[in-house]
Amino acid sequence: MSRLTIYRPEIIETETGARLQAVFTSNGREETMWYEVEKKYQGYLTVERADAFLVGLFLFAFKNGEDIEVLAPISKRLYYTLNKYLLPLIADIRGIKEIKIHCDQIVEEVLPSANAVGTGLSCGIDSFSTIYHHLVEDCPEDYKITHFTFFNVGSNGGLGGEKARQLFKKRSDLVRPCANELGKELVTLDSNISEILQLGFYETHTYRNMSACLALQKLFKVYYYSSSYSLKYFDLKPNSCGHYDIFNMSMLSTENISLYSSCPHHTRVEKTRMVSNFEPAYKYLNVCLVDGENCGGCEKCVRTLFTLEVMGKLNEFSTVFNLENYYQKRQNYIAKVIANHKSNEYMKEIYDELVKNDFKVPMYSKLAANYLKIKNLVLN
Ligand SMILES: [Zn+2]
Repeated sequence: MSRLTIYRPEIIETETGARLQAVFTSNGREETMWYEVEKKYQGYLTVERADAFLVGLFLFAFKNGEDIEVLAPISKRLYYTLNKYLLPLIADIRGIKEIKIHCDQIVEEVLPSANAVGTGLSCGIDSFSTIYHHLVEDCPEDYKITHFTFFNVGSNGGLGGEKARQLFKKRSDLVRPCANELGKELVTLDSNISEILQLGFYETHTYRNMSACLALQKLFKVYYYSSSYSLKYFDLKPNSCGHYDIFNMSMLSTENISLYSSCPHHTRVEKTRMVSNFEPAYKYLNVCLVDGENCGGCEKCVRTLFTLEVMGKLNEFSTVFNLENYYQKRQNYIAKVIANHKSNEYMKEIYDELVKNDFKVPMYSKLAANYLKIKNLVLN
């Protein structure tokens, strides 16, 4: 059986920053994977371990049906959890051949760390609710967020390339003022992991993001990865790793870093409520599916705005959304919520909130909802 071999990582300086990189061979080809940060974070790049590369590349090894050989030290805990739990589980739920990790340098000593507490700053609902939960609500001092991150590992374009890199830079600049206002550092990290993997982002986002965290194990002792699905919807879905992030986080933690799937039991409506009480969000919330400022009219904008309206918080967000577009879509959206709340989880959450708050449904939406219900009946 051929193997994917990961060689010892090294740090090199580039024009734009400092890179942690490692050569690997797979299927007879040699490539270099890298993670780049600003020079001032160079000292935190974890060159002593190949953990980041191992987590970043195991899906690639699965793709090629190769065992992984690591010719550098890796965390003993990670070696154990991947071989004994995570890799067999992934093979099983995806219906693919099992692979194993081979390494004769497994180590457990804890590396010196700045003991920082990090989380991604995307300025979306999940990101802001994690921040609210760990900065505004009661939280032990050691678990309060000290640093924000913004990674280029797929969220700016799952297959990477220059377009994704430009978008990463643009979005980093957009979230930086928010980090400044909250008085925290923003650690940006670029990587060529997307170009290498050539896999869909939705099915792989957890492993990509956590590999970036593992490249910075000497900076973070705790890291919160904002969950996008409530634990209530836990599911071992072959194409959605986010549905079992609570398990992934425990399996990807090491002696140096504890990873958490944050706000796992909160529903979207509950998260939106937290964000609606968080003043910095009035200036920086960004949920739009269209790039740039919130359009107010796309599905995510309308869903968020209607939830805020039901909570009586629409005015607070009037400067970061185009409300004219929202008002054009609003009545039809309310009709959809009423018509589909029994079959759609998100809509059910919003519908329950609407009933609880005694929200006055416009006559047009009531009629349109009846029409949609009849149409559904006829079509089904
Ligand atoms: Zn939008």
